[in-house]
Amino acid sequence: MNVALIAHDRKKDTIINFAIAYKHILEHHHITATGTTGRLIQEATGLPIHRVQSGPLGGDQQIGAEIAQNNMDLVIFLRDPLTAQPHEPDILALLRLCDVYKIPVATNIATAEILIRAMEKGEFHWREIVKER
Ligand code: PGA
Repeated sequence: MNVALIAHDRKKDTIINFAIAYKHILEHHHITATGTTGRLIQEATGLPIHRVQSGPLGGDQQIGAEIAQNNMDLVIFLRDPLTAQPHEPDILALLRLCDVYKIPVATNIATAEILIRAMEKGEFHWREIVKER
């Protein structure tokens, strides 16, 4: 599966710990991440990661474009709900595209845990059905 990982600055530690804890699952999938998130995860886990631009420089839009081409199966986007982001419109656009294309998206660690455990069990076969519609 193609998985996108993104985390705002105050959620970077959380996503790094998440990637370390679930490296055994993530290593079987193709990971794309925004610039800084991707670099930090790569350094911490050694996982191969396709890095796009940093979020504020267009990375969210690049991942959105992958979603629009149906090249993304799952998005984990740990948002900081307590800090204003200069690229708020890009964030909303990315989440909107997840809804348009029915992509499972986690915006907090609790949902991320549920999604990755579902991924481990291979519970995403319905994605193939949804993709065809
Ligand atoms: P970053 O981008 O991984 O490059 O920090 C994430 C974001 O802020 O949207």
